[in-house]
Amino acid sequence: MTNLFKGLEEFGLGNLSKKIEIYEEKNETDTKQSLLKKPVPITEEEVLFEKTFNCPVCGNDFKSKMVKSGKVKLLTQDTDLRPVFQHVDPLKYDAVVCPRCGYAALNRFFKYLTDTQISLIKSTISASFKGLSGSGDTLSYDEAITRHKLALVNSIVKKSKTSERAYICLKTAWVIRGKIENLSTEEETSENQMAIKNLQKEEEEFIQKAYEGFNEAILKEAFPMCRMDESTVSLLIADLARRTHKYEEASRWLSKILVSRNSNERIKEKAREIKDLMRESLSKNE
Ligand SMILES: [Zn+2]
Repeated sequence: MTNLFKGLEEFGLGNLSKKIEIYEEKNETDTKQSLLKKPVPITEEEVLFEKTFNCPVCGNDFKSKMVKSGKVKLLTQDTDLRPVFQHVDPLKYDAVVCPRCGYAALNRFFKYLTDTQISLIKSTISASFKGLSGSGDTLSYDEAITRHKLALVNSIVKKSKTSERAYICLKTAWVIRGKIENLSTEEETSENQMAIKNLQKEEEEFIQKAYEGFNEAILKEAFPMCRMDESTVSLLIADLARRTHKYEEASRWLSKILVSRNSNERIKEKAREIKDLMRESLSKNE
């Protein structure tokens, strides 16, 4: 298993990341984008704005780049619900990091901390956080991946709900997939191919962690989970199982969705799509 938290050393959190597990040992997309009729901007800078955040841990006001809603056109959605947009990848900007104290979370979870969580973050993260290096006009994939990992470490330290950790794992996998797709458009050098291979492995590990987390969360948390209803989470788990080659598990979830009165036709359609993909990979393996 590779160290999923590599890259955090620059924040002074290298030691911490070596020791922690995402979930306790055995014993959680709606990026609905209104499609605008206006011409779609094509550069990343054009769709970004600086949003001011107030850090719930240290009180610092800071600016973080965010994507203007409605400025990016949704092209498609992967079977694990990852939205794919035209020209830019807004998913890179979803992890918000306080540059002063190291508190990080996905945008949707950023404001919400209890007093206990604040002190846990202060003593475990802020105490060793070395500061965030300044970034340019846009975030590189590497910067985005590192920020997501920092959000994951924070979620573990603050003992967040399992679903939140699972959701950050999923979103980290999505940013890594974005990087892979980006690299795939470049020239095919052996260096490039090697980088893609390593990233694919890393993506799969985050998918596996997301799968484990949602599987556990579904047993002990109420819906909606990370703003997803039960049939959406079931669909997600089915696809995460497929992506990690747990086909029987995936089939069980898909059958459940297809017979359920609670799943709408859109979800059922996606379930059939996943079923077809699975049949394809099974026939390839024969
Ligand atoms: Zn702070």
